[in-house]
Amino acid sequence: MTDPRTLREISCADDYDPDSMPVDRARALIRQVLTPVTATERVHVRQALDRVLAEDLTSPMAVPGHDNSAMDGWAVRFADLSGSGETELTRVGESFAGKPFTGSLGPRETVRIFTGGVMPANADTVVMQERANERDGRVRVAAGAVSKAGQNRRFAGEDVKRGQVVLRRGHPVRPAELGVIASLGINEVSVYRRLRVAFFSTGDELRSIGTTLGPGEIYDSNRYTLYGMLSHLHCEALDLGVVPDVPAALESAFATAAANADVVITSGGVSVGEADYVKQLLDKMGEVLFWKIAMKPGRPLAYGRIGSAHFFGLPGNPVAVMVTFYQFVREALLVLQGRTEIEAVPTFKATLAAPIKKMAGRTEFQRGILARGTSGWEVRPTGEQGSGILSSMSQANCFIVLPTDTANVPAGEVVDVQLLEGLI
Ligand code: AMP
Ligand code: MG
Repeated sequence: MTDPRTLREISCADDYDPDSMPVDRARALIRQVLTPVTATERVHVRQALDRVLAEDLTSPMAVPGHDNSAMDGWAVRFADLSGSGETELTRVGESFAGKPFTGSLGPRETVRIFTGGVMPANADTVVMQERANERDGRVRVAAGAVSKAGQNRRFAGEDVKRGQVVLRRGHPVRPAELGVIASLGINEVSVYRRLRVAFFSTGDELRSIGTTLGPGEIYDSNRYTLYGMLSHLHCEALDLGVVPDVPAALESAFATAAANADVVITSGGVSVGEADYVKQLLDKMGEVLFWKIAMKPGRPLAYGRIGSAHFFGLPGNPVAVMVTFYQFVREALLVLQGRTEIEAVPTFKATLAAPIKKMAGRTEFQRGILARGTSGWEVRPTGEQGSGILSSMSQANCFIVLPTDTANVPAGEVVDVQLLEGLI
């Protein structure tokens, strides 16, 4: 891996314009300065769920360990079967899963075998039970019961070969990986330490739930959406509460957050006017860039480092918090967690069921409802798209992604949608 770039290098690039930063550009720039966690811990397989592997896993054995039957039936020697008519064989034993037949098959002999039963020595094929009849130890196999040698037989190592790297460092551990790891007989793996993310909300008008609102005050909802989004990404979320727009209070909150976490996320305080003193403060404490992203919602975004922590200063508006988190923070957190291959958020095409008003020049993420129409997937906006209308996020099941150059879009056009289900 090449060394991460510094923020200074980024901000000195020729085409760097902090006041109109395209979404993709911002994403790419953030990606260049991320430094993933390196600390690891060894955990029992179950504890590895939702963590990221910190080692390559090499299989100590072949899976399956033996050739075995893919179905209930009769283990035979293919060469014994008549090409045209019925074949009569002699039953010489049984092979159950976990209780193999210990002998070997002689000419015109067969063994009753069950799914997962080890193939007896000399048997190469399994006849499914529906294609054979047994009477007094004589087994009649129907003509054409199998078409080729090896049929209905699972081969040793067909899933995993001994010595094969089954899972690579940086791979997420999901339910399938738990099963794969267990199938190799491995009970402890090395994973990266969980990412610690501290967050707080800024604003004199904000109150926490459980308190009474004074005139003009509102309940802080951003800490709740952030808590939810961080938990779904399996981060350790450190909630530092509401911090008023008071420089001393902000300074101490930033210091506490940076000292206790790998990542600091704030909401509010990055819009015009408020950003000025936050900027002064952060210039003192770290290296932070303030961007106006060419997107809606979510125009102001601060990004940088405070001490050794990565910092994302999200806008205050509740919808903008979620959109910027999903578009910028999510991917960054996956990289920081040690993930090496990050799947793009699932996007697909749908027909717009209602017109959308839009100005060219910025990427828009409208909240949409995607549903199956008579001729394929159709999407319509949730209605009011203001960045303070948090209920629109709750009604939506997707973002309608409208690229920079697009202006008004009439109904019937095909648009890109990003499933929220793939994000959270
Ligand atoms: P700001 O970016 O701080 O100017 O905030 C923009 C808008 O978002 C204002 O209407 C704020 O009251 C609102 N807002 C900021 N933070 C929060 C929060 N934590 N919860 C709910 N609304 C917020
Ligand atoms: Mg504010």
